[in-house]
Amino acid sequence: MAIRRLFVGGNWKCNNTLAQTKDLVNNVLNKLHFDPSKVDVVVAPIFLHVPWVAEHIQKPVQVSVQNTSLTGTGAYTGEISVSHVKDLGLNWTILGHSERRQYYGETNEVVANKVKYAVENGLDVIACVGEHLAEREANQTNQVVEGQLEAIRGKLNEAQWEKIVIAYEPVWAIGTGKVATPAQAQEVHEFIRSYLTQKVSQNVSQKTRILYGGSVTEKNAGELIHQKDIDGFLVGGASLKPAFADIVAACN
Ligand code: PGA
Repeated sequence: MAIRRLFVGGNWKCNNTLAQTKDLVNNVLNKLHFDPSKVDVVVAPIFLHVPWVAEHIQKPVQVSVQNTSLTGTGAYTGEISVSHVKDLGLNWTILGHSERRQYYGETNEVVANKVKYAVENGLDVIACVGEHLAEREANQTNQVVEGQLEAIRGKLNEAQWEKIVIAYEPVWAIGTGKVATPAQAQEVHEFIRSYLTQKVSQNVSQKTRILYGGSVTEKNAGELIHQKDIDGFLVGGASLKPAFADIVAACN
C-alpha cells in the first residue's frame, strides 16, 4: 500500500436518471464509512445532477465535474466554465478522460490547456492518461503515456502539481471487464512516478497520487491497492452500484 493519502473517484459518466442519482447518494454514498485522513472519496455526476448531489451528499465525500471548458464565462454556447464549478463551492474536475479524447477530439494539447486553465483558476484536477490496445500491443504504452504527461508538464510550474492527481486508465480496460493485472498496472504507475522524478522533481513524484482506472470492481480492488505505486482508483461502472462502498473499504 502506498504512502500517500489514497483516493477513490467515482466517474458516473453520462449515466443515471435523477431518481437513480438520488438513490445512489442516499443509499450508498451517505452510508459510506471511511477515514478522510486516509482516503479522499470524490464522485463526478453529470453536470445537471451536480447541484443536487453537492447539496445532499454528506461530507467528507466530495463532488467533482467530469470536464470543464477551456475558457472562462461568456459566449461559449454549451460549455461549463471553471468559475461555474467554483461558484457551487466545488474543487475538482476530471480532465482528459479517454472518452473525451476519443469521441470529442481532445488532443494532448487541448487537455493540457484545460488542465492549466483549471489549475490556474483554483480547481484540483484528476488528469487521465492511458494507451489504446494497439499501442500496448506495439509496446508503445510508456511512450503514449509520456506524451500525454509531457503536454501537461509543459503547462504547469512545479508548485501547481500539488493540484494534480493522475489517473492511469488503459483504454482497453475501460468498461470492458478486462482489468490490467496488478503487475501490468504497477509497471506503468512506476514508469509515471519515475517520469515525475526525472522531469518534475523528487518531491512531486513522492507526493502525486497516481490512480488506476479500468474495470475496477470490489473483487480486484484489494489486490490492486497493495501495489507500491497505486494510490487509489478512478471507478466507472462499479461507482454506480453498492460495490463502490466495498472499493472504498478496500482503500480504508
Ligand atoms: P470503468 O471506467 O470502471 O467502467 O472501466 C473507468 C473510467 O473510465 O474512469
